[in-house]
Amino acid sequence: MADVMAESEADVAVVGGGPAGLHAALVLARGGLRVVLLDESDTLGGQYYKRRAEQLTAAFGDFRPQGTELIRQVRESGVDCRTGTLVWGAEDAGRTLFTSDVRTGALGRVSTRATLVATGAYERSLPFPGWTLPGVVTPGFALHLATMDRVPVGQRVVLAGTGPFLLPVACALLEVGARIEALVELNHPYRPGISSIAGALRQPARLAEAARYLLTLARHGVRVEQGSRVLAAHGDTQVTAVDVAQEDGSVRQLETDALCVGFGFRPSTELPRLLGCDTRPDPTGTEQLPVVDTDGSTSLDGLYIAGDCAGIAGVHAAGVRGQLAAHAILRRLAPERAPVRVAGLRRRARALDRFAELADRLYPLPNAADIPDATQVCRCEGVTAGEIREAAATGWNDLHGTKAATRAGMGPCQGRECGHIVAALAGRREGGAECFAARMPIRPLPMAATVEGQEVQ
Ligand SMILES: Cc1cc2nc3c(=O)[nH]c(=O)nc-3n(C[C@H](O)[C@H](O)[C@H](O)COP(=O)(O)OP(=O)(O)OC[C@H]3O[C@@H](n4cnc5c(N)ncnc54)[C@H](O)[C@@H]3O)c2cc1C
Repeated sequence: MADVMAESEADVAVVGGGPAGLHAALVLARGGLRVVLLDESDTLGGQYYKRRAEQLTAAFGDFRPQGTELIRQVRESGVDCRTGTLVWGAEDAGRTLFTSDVRTGALGRVSTRATLVATGAYERSLPFPGWTLPGVVTPGFALHLATMDRVPVGQRVVLAGTGPFLLPVACALLEVGARIEALVELNHPYRPGISSIAGALRQPARLAEAARYLLTLARHGVRVEQGSRVLAAHGDTQVTAVDVAQEDGSVRQLETDALCVGFGFRPSTELPRLLGCDTRPDPTGTEQLPVVDTDGSTSLDGLYIAGDCAGIAGVHAAGVRGQLAAHAILRRLAPERAPVRVAGLRRRARALDRFAELADRLYPLPNAADIPDATQVCRCEGVTAGEIREAAATGWNDLHGTKAATRAGMGPCQGRECGHIVAALAGRREGGAECFAARMPIRPLPMAATVEGQEVQ
């Protein structure tokens, strides 16, 4: 073991190499600042600009070439791109970041004058009977297999949950030869009211994208079953059947070998919360979002946030917000090099935010507190909804007390998956959404890496 904790310095650290982080890093580097871009993945691009393996690119072509071009520009601009680097802790308003090499566990410390957090989002899952069976996956996982590896998650697939994301996932599955047994949408977004239509018409490109997906589905004979939901998944060692509650109240059983269920995305806010940023409840009332101004400034001097981790608004908003945050940092650290007018970017950001608000209205979430008692909620520690309700009822009636009594949220994911459900079941929401406190390390680290000053070989 070597006794080094690699120390480095930069003017700005950008945490997250998705659309927000990439656009920000490019503006900052072109503005003359020394930028380090840290991402735990082994490639840049984030969720939207994921990279295909070389052999698959050779066989099937580049996936989203705009991403390839953006990454090329970022690398050529002199940004110090460190992939495979997890930021697991931070202090001093983000001016010190603690990192770990995800391959070796080697520790590092980055000192900066300003930090931009662009850590994106993860998918929202809601437990139901059978959700832990093999073959029950998130739509994002199915999309990853279909687009990156060109493999269908199953031959017969049921897609369910709510949100516009179900549409591209269904299309990607069809493209790799899966049969969609049903596309079960909880809400009625494709039977919208007048005000929703008016709102959507203000974003013709987004509307055209949705129309393209719906046309593809129609061509393959896939109907979106609105007002329907999955009640349970069945199977011994693998999902084989799914119960679907239909709009008219009847229940039908479908045979399938994969079930993809998702309820949109949840912002990844651990770093800002760890640093003590001011927060507010998000529009779904289930998450705490960092408070940011139009340009991504937070309540902490020198800490900026952009992209989905500041509120789910999609890839285009992430790019625009990343640029706005970068210009704000330039104005602060290198005012002589930041004469750029950002009014156009701000206007575009506001329009994209309004579209995101429309999506929130069209795809409301179901009540997480309705989960049956026997259903497992915390997968890491095997805690059921009934055990959480019981703990809450016996006096542990807040999120942290319930965690202590049941161990829900104490496993490797540290409550990232179940925290919002435990909060709903523990049932005390005065003052807004509750969530588990963020603590260092925000992700699991190898044991040897926690011995300060020692590098794991
Ligand atoms: C699974 C999934 C699939 C999606 N697919 C689509 C799609 O097909 N079409 C579409 O329009 N939208 C899609 N979206 C939404 C879209 O990708 C996002 O709106 C957009 O990527 C947001 O960009 P971002 O830069 O904010 O975050 P992201 O693209 O999520 O990038 C965040 C980056 O931060 C890194 N990161 C996070 N935490 C840390 C940390 N602690 N240390 C180091 N690095 C960290 C991650 O590895 C990631 O690369 C998807 C979202 C998800 C979650």
